[in-house]
Amino acid sequence: MRTKVAIIGAGPAGLLLGQLLHAAGIDNVILERQTPDYVLGRIRAGLLEEGTVKLLDEVGAGARAHREGLVHDGIELAFGGERHRIDMKAATGKTVMIYGQTEVTLDLMNARKAAGLTSVYEASDVEPQGFDGDHPRVTYRKDGITHEIDCDFIAGCDGFHGISRASVKPEAIRTFERIYPFGWLGILSETPPVSHELIYSNHARGFALCTMRSTHRSRYYVQCPLDDHIEQWPDARFWDELKRRLDQKAVDNLVTGPSIEKSIAPLRSFVAEPMRFGRMLLAGDAAHIVPPTGAKGLNLAVSDVHYLSRSLREYYDEKSSAGIDGYSAQALSRVWKAVRFSWWMTSMLHKFPDQGEFGARIQLAELDYLVSSKAATTSLSENYVGLPY
Ligand SMILES: Cc1cc2nc3c(=O)[nH]c(=O)nc-3n(C[C@H](O)[C@H](O)[C@H](O)COP(=O)(O)OP(=O)(O)OC[C@H]3O[C@@H](n4cnc5c(N)ncnc54)[C@H](O)[C@@H]3O)c2cc1C
Repeated sequence: MRTKVAIIGAGPAGLLLGQLLHAAGIDNVILERQTPDYVLGRIRAGLLEEGTVKLLDEVGAGARAHREGLVHDGIELAFGGERHRIDMKAATGKTVMIYGQTEVTLDLMNARKAAGLTSVYEASDVEPQGFDGDHPRVTYRKDGITHEIDCDFIAGCDGFHGISRASVKPEAIRTFERIYPFGWLGILSETPPVSHELIYSNHARGFALCTMRSTHRSRYYVQCPLDDHIEQWPDARFWDELKRRLDQKAVDNLVTGPSIEKSIAPLRSFVAEPMRFGRMLLAGDAAHIVPPTGAKGLNLAVSDVHYLSRSLREYYDEKSSAGIDGYSAQALSRVWKAVRFSWWMTSMLHKFPDQGEFGARIQLAELDYLVSSKAATTSLSENYVGLPY
């Protein structure tokens, strides 16, 4: 098989890149290790920046998000027993949208199917090869047969545990990492959200987040020890712990119910540099991970593929490799700002094992400053709604 761009991974990065390239007349094939149902069953991100929604619109996959997504003008910060609203729209003129990653993925999959583009699901032993030279190719196995795709470029959109970054010679890559000493225990429940907007809570017992996927489906998280297992957290224990970390009004409004999904996610910041290795370019979680506190993971994957699709268009339309040459630096500049923001939100809102009373007071002082200073509110809002591309 021959294509211009072989995309590894059918998560949000791979699927959106496929549609952006298709819109520019650049043919591409997607190789995905899992089944479509498996990909659609992964409960992950749920908050979209305006830039993300705009790109979904650009590829004709945004209509359902506009119909069903919930537009939020702000968030609430809970600390010291009270809640304080940050009006992000007033500070920046921008909003964010609640719309699940599962829905984004489904809309992009449907758009890809409607366009008749080739996707190979359940492709095993996928291997990017020859990307240091002029003839890159990707091999994979499907139904016991080995296949090879010749291409001009390989897009590594295969997430943190993917094969693309792992195929790079160790001396060609530099990584930066911070592992946080706690995880997030999350549940999804078929209950109305406790509040219209997200509540981020800094509490002596640990962080809590109240978010949602729709007007009837809620997502709640509590900070938990890294070595906890979900078996230790029956629903009743989860709801009790969440209530302890919320203000009284939220506790009074909270509707509890059986969990329909429950998981513990570790928190990590990770960046690989560069994001281009000859004719292989990385995008999304394949190149970087952020803790979910800033709601940036999915949105960063989207901004990467925006830059990447533009670079590839320049290559094919204008016969110029300037965009490809500049891709890594351009993407990383935005990535590092989101990494900083996500680290900062995490540091301000969580209970760290070694923070002591001093650290706890510093967090409260910072939160108090944040809600009382226009400059600080604007800075938080600018980053939260998404820095410009
Ligand atoms: C448990 C969890 C919870 C999260 N929660 C949030 C959240 O609340 N908010 C937020 O903003 N972000 C969250 N994120 C981050 C967000 O989901 C990711 O940033 C986003 O999925 C990145 O998209 P991606 O396409 O780059 O990678 P992925 O979504 O990981 O997609 C990569 C794809 O590549 C495939 N793949 C992997 N290896 C291979 C291979 N060898 N061959 C072929 N295919 C392969 C995978 O099956 C997958 O479909 C969460 C992530 C995780 C893991």
